[in-house]
Amino acid sequence: MSALPSSAKIIIVGGGIVGCSVAYHLGKMGLTDVLLLEQGRLTCGSTWHAAGLVGQLRTSANITQLLGYSVELYDRLEQETGLATGWKRNGGLRLACNPERWTEVKRQATTATSFGLEMHLLSPKEAQELWPLMQIEDVVGAAFLPTDGQVSPSDIAMSLAKGARQNGVTISEGVRVLGVDVEGGRVRAVVTDQGRITCDKLVICAGQWSREIGRMAGVNIPLAAMQHQYLITEKIEGVARDLPTLRDPDRLTYWKEEVGGLVMGGYEPNPKPWAMDGLPDRFEFQLLDDDLERFEPLLELAAGRVPAMQTAGIKQFINGPESFTPDGNFILGEAPEVRGIYVGAGFNAFGIASGGGAGMALAEWVAKGEPPYDLWPVDIRRFGRNHLDTNWVRTRTLEAYAKHYTMAWPYEEYRSGRPLRRSPLYDRLKAEGACFGEKLGWERPNWFAELARGEEAEDHYSYWRQNWFDAVGREHKAARERVAIFDQTSFAKFMLVGRDAEKALSWIAANDVTKPPGHLVYTQMLNDRGGIECDLTVGRLSPSEYYIVTGTGFATHDFDWISRSIQDGLDASLIDVTSAHAVLSVMGPRSRDVLQSLTDHDLSNAGFPFGRVKRIAIAGAPVLALRVTYVGELGFELHIPVEFAASVYDALMEAGQRHGIANAGYRAIESLRLEKGYRAWGAEIGPDHSPLVAGLGWAVKLKSNTPFQGRAALEAQAAKKLPRLLAGFTTDPSIVLLGRETIYCGGKRVGWLTSGGYGYTVGRSIGYGYVRDPENGVDREMVLSGRYELEVATMRVPAEIFLDPLYDPTMSRIKS
Ligand SMILES: Cc1cc2nc3c(=O)[nH]c(=O)nc-3n(C[C@H](O)[C@H](O)[C@H](O)COP(=O)(O)OP(=O)(O)OC[C@H]3O[C@@H](n4cnc5c(N)ncnc54)[C@H](O)[C@@H]3O)c2cc1C
Repeated sequence: MSALPSSAKIIIVGGGIVGCSVAYHLGKMGLTDVLLLEQGRLTCGSTWHAAGLVGQLRTSANITQLLGYSVELYDRLEQETGLATGWKRNGGLRLACNPERWTEVKRQATTATSFGLEMHLLSPKEAQELWPLMQIEDVVGAAFLPTDGQVSPSDIAMSLAKGARQNGVTISEGVRVLGVDVEGGRVRAVVTDQGRITCDKLVICAGQWSREIGRMAGVNIPLAAMQHQYLITEKIEGVARDLPTLRDPDRLTYWKEEVGGLVMGGYEPNPKPWAMDGLPDRFEFQLLDDDLERFEPLLELAAGRVPAMQTAGIKQFINGPESFTPDGNFILGEAPEVRGIYVGAGFNAFGIASGGGAGMALAEWVAKGEPPYDLWPVDIRRFGRNHLDTNWVRTRTLEAYAKHYTMAWPYEEYRSGRPLRRSPLYDRLKAEGACFGEKLGWERPNWFAELARGEEAEDHYSYWRQNWFDAVGREHKAARERVAIFDQTSFAKFMLVGRDAEKALSWIAANDVTKPPGHLVYTQMLNDRGGIECDLTVGRLSPSEYYIVTGTGFATHDFDWISRSIQDGLDASLIDVTSAHAVLSVMGPRSRDVLQSLTDHDLSNAGFPFGRVKRIAIAGAPVLALRVTYVGELGFELHIPVEFAASVYDALMEAGQRHGIANAGYRAIESLRLEKGYRAWGAEIGPDHSPLVAGLGWAVKLKSNTPFQGRAALEAQAAKKLPRLLAGFTTDPSIVLLGRETIYCGGKRVGWLTSGGYGYTVGRSIGYGYVRDPENGVDREMVLSGRYELEVATMRVPAEIFLDPLYDPTMSRIKS
């Protein structure tokens, strides 16, 4: 107790690999008033019993980069600290045992090329040369990542801890955090079993206990503890020390060498949660009882791959608990609920692989207030109201766990815990043939089956055109040629109110929001690097009221960004009104005709021009109508008090009959927006991309003298040639573009696609991506003058570039 200080600038809870890595990196940054508290001894949670495989490839470039950093760190750590880590860069093999999996692996190989990660495709025979013990009768092909490897999990964590201590960080074992003090929305102290310690910042890296610690402070950390099993064999003849790690997803198993024997683990299709009634306080260096009944099927699959398993002796069976999350990604970042509380948890059985990079990124987030680069796929703000309920989180997490090695189909939706958040039109749309997808708990129509013609409202997944392709084509055509109605109730909606609302928003928004009431503004909100944090629409309702509409998935993130960016002392409050309004978007050349027949408000172009917001009455309902479009057609977004929504929908459908109105879903929106060149946050745009590189400079008030967040960075960028520019590409319609395909210009790799899809009006496959030349810079002419190819599932195909919208209804022309 005497050794414990009464205060520390930064307190880290948890001495597993993640806490140790955060401590190491904070120390490296010269921050020494850092205290790590571990209730037991270092590594005693999940870290000590991990298998230790270190793979790198993920579906996001930045998360792959993060895992690549782990490898770089593990390469040098032992030399730096003098403590062995067991790191071996022995490479990683991945098998494909059916044609669809082989397509998946080839697409992964192209993703690796896009992200600059070495990955080679091998024949079954070549794979067997690297892994002689396996039988290859059922193997179609394999991929090899030479820079993957394996570590000794405890040793690497201890080595990080030693590095942290060497740089002045204090580590105290045997100290349990019992409570967290929060005052005025900020963390003030932690209460331990040995006294209270004040702090400025608290970093929760407590593995599966993180949810409980978050709760002590009112912070939601949606994870669930699950059981995960592997076994270690006795020595097996022919197992070389440099045997690569092996993933055999079609047999749900993974392998690695261990002291001349093999480690074999896997992801059971019937996963089992742990400690559903609450985690035990103490669980140090302990394991769970073997669950052979669930493991047996994996053993059979494994013995089919490695016949030597039939006779190998089993040295040890491991069943360890680990924290998993509802989407299979870990959780990083500052909690939106309380300032100064950061989280690094929920590592889904790849915490050893991620530990180095996640610790680096989180340390930088803690020290500088922002991550080193966009980490949206793992950002804690990707969660929302549906993630508060532990049971719901566990249900979805069980599904995510069971899917770990199943095919990751394009457009795949989760099935568990649904339906949860429903628009008032849910039942109507279901009866009309809606096939729903889910985002942040919301059910959203993806597309509509023609039930009368025997179509089934169900996705059938494949790597080629899927069963909904024609249905989405019908909806697309309706929006382009007649009128389509989209239920977009799940949009996040906020009110910014107060005497200083204009002043506050003017600083946060990159576009001019000082327009008079009745105006709408499309704007980005930028970080200090000029990167796009939010991309949304703002409607001015009165001098002191703004109505803000943003994407469903960004509800928590954007609310957090806007509310924390309101400058001190201003009278401006942000209120989430998402649940108050249903949204029906009526889009297409006949949309005005349909709406006008239901209201006596003037909807003509003069009476209600583009970029305006107006209160109108439709079918007895007070409606806030926004003249905007994300599909590139004349259209109106109707924000309707929830209780009126069904009546408005019925009236619109009835009035729309003679104009050929059709229900349409999110997949049609995607196709329409790709043709019109609208950017999507999280794909084309995000915190790493400025409006200038994204071709959105027209939406920024750089010509005014108004100061705004990110202005200085944009001015600096505008003074030079841009390092990259967002461009569109089209290919032959037989090519399926999904995103992450590699872009080549004159044979040189220059980027990858951020989005991919199909444009039904132009009859071409469409993708967007940045053309990069960080050394020499790029401009429009240069980019347009290149000859382009895209690599799709390792095949190069010719592509045409475009910078202006492919489709533009106001000029009635289609560019091809
Ligand atoms: C069987 C199995 C195999 C695995 N194989 C691999 C693999 O091959 N590759 C890979 O990358 N990952 C693997 N993992 C996953 C890996 O083990 C974890 O992702 C990683 O260890 C998580 O580290 P952590 O620091 O987040 O959590 P932990 O190691 O659990 O550390 C959290 C620490 O917080 C402490 N703590 C909790 N509450 C408190 C409190 N109130 N006060 C103070 N301290 C507290 C705990 O005692 C614990 O030491 C495997 C996991 C399992 C179960």
